[in-house]
Amino acid sequence: MRILVVEDEKRLAAALQTGLEAEGFAVDVAHDGGEGLWYARENTYDAILLDIMLPVMNGYKVCETLRAEEIWTPILMLTAKDGEWDEVEALDTGADDYVTKPFSFVVLLARVRSLLRRGAAERPALLEVGDLVLDPASRIVTRSGTELSLTSRELSLLEFLMRRRGEVVTKTQILNHVWDYAFEGDPNIIEVYVGRLRRKIDKPFGRNDIETLRGSGYRLRVPS
Ligand code: CA
Repeated sequence: MRILVVEDEKRLAAALQTGLEAEGFAVDVAHDGGEGLWYARENTYDAILLDIMLPVMNGYKVCETLRAEEIWTPILMLTAKDGEWDEVEALDTGADDYVTKPFSFVVLLARVRSLLRRGAAERPALLEVGDLVLDPASRIVTRSGTELSLTSRELSLLEFLMRRRGEVVTKTQILNHVWDYAFEGDPNIIEVYVGRLRRKIDKPFGRNDIETLRGSGYRLRVPS
């Protein structure tokens, strides 16, 4: 059984590697999201342990990218209770399970074994909000049966809004999920992308489903 550990805290990564190897697993370690993604694409693993706060690309993006590329290796997210990230979000991006830091190695091992027993994840269900349909696996979006041409960033933004349908999402939440962890540009970029998305998914259909809530964020309206 081969396991990939993606963790930027070097001591924790080394401890996980030593512990898992002692249990008979073959272990590769990556110290940032970009490297982790490369390993996960190039090799076949039985499970991936994936930290969330990572340099280059955060764990959510790594997970989403792998699922979008139809790589269904079971993923166990390593989450930290810092208030900004939560377990539900981890599972939303296509992770199979999570453990909250700090965790004991015994607990982690039990979760890994349970994941290995379950095997690879199912192809995720279609996301549907009214007549808007997004297939997270094929990355195809349709409205009223018409296929829409979205860039990968527009699609990630739409996917995030659809997963949080009916809820107000802040610009910070959008930045954390849709842009890379290392993004240090102008958060107003989000307004630009929301505008583009509206021109593609709303305007041609005479709709106004992406609402702007002044000072708080955006909300994808759920049709009644
Ligand atoms: Ca980290």
